[in-house]
Amino acid sequence: MATPDHISLTLARHGLRQTPMRRAVLSVLFSKSFALSSNDIEQALEEGTDRITLYRTLRTFEQKGVIHRVLDSSDVIRFAACSATCTEQAHADDHVHFKCSVCQHTYCLNQVAIPAVQLPGGFQAVHRDYLMSGVCQQCHAT
Ligand SMILES: [Zn+2]
Ligand SMILES: [Zn+2]
Repeated sequence: MATPDHISLTLARHGLRQTPMRRAVLSVLFSKSFALSSNDIEQALEEGTDRITLYRTLRTFEQKGVIHRVLDSSDVIRFAACSATCTEQAHADDHVHFKCSVCQHTYCLNQVAIPAVQLPGGFQAVHRDYLMSGVCQQCHAT
């Protein structure tokens, strides 16, 4: 569970004002070890939360390097909190994502770096997505 302090620090580090919505969204994202869709986040927030404000918050977070998109095999866009070293300029797209076929959760494997890929001349990578699928730690144990 994220402490309020961790939330304040994260917002401050990215130069963002502390608003109740931003704090609530970060709290939800920090409380889960897997990526969440905007719908998942909305369900976890208090009833009557303004969806437009939520979307705007997610967009700001993404632009500022607070969260990143996690693409998996579905059409749903999910978000996860970025590692502490992420900034607006250097967004972390350097780790592997893992989709569990049992619980359907997609995890950020922050400790697993995307292997270096040699590109043919003239090709310049801007963004990298690396998705593995299988059975996660949690589902493997049961
Ligand atoms: Zn699982
Ligand atoms: Zn990730």
